[in-house]
Amino acid sequence: MIMPKRNDLEQKALHFVMNTGYTGVLQSELWRELGASSREGSRIAIKLEEKGLVRREKELEGGRWTYRLFPKRLPASIESIVDCPCLLCQDNARCDPTTAISPKSCAKLTDWILSLDNDGSVALGEPDFDESMDSR
Ligand code: SF4
Repeated sequence: MIMPKRNDLEQKALHFVMNTGYTGVLQSELWRELGASSREGSRIAIKLEEKGLVRREKELEGGRWTYRLFPKRLPASIESIVDCPCLLCQDNARCDPTTAISPKSCAKLTDWILSLDNDGSVALGEPDFDESMDSR
């Protein structure tokens, strides 16, 4: 018999929150959607927040304080990557982090990423450090 993974609900919750985009979702709506209890839901929301995946904002709903959950990051849209230099790069097929032609040392890619940071089109909410960009 296959036991459901403990973090299945956490994954479903994260996907749901990500799909709400900039609108976010009230905790109570999310738990209803997932068929979870409010106690279980609160535990999941706190876990997702601790992992830096969602942001919780206090909101007054029907005279009671609750939280609205927002994704900290959204999946890239086509519009956001349409001018990525890798798409038309002649070295794309040979580009690999373990070789001399590498995204780790590519000035074109670095310039493009820095231009994204300037207009804030990638990160949502408070700025946080993306460990995947750490070249140490
Ligand atoms: S990282 Fe640089 S070299 Fe590699 S595919 Fe992108 S633009 Fe080309």
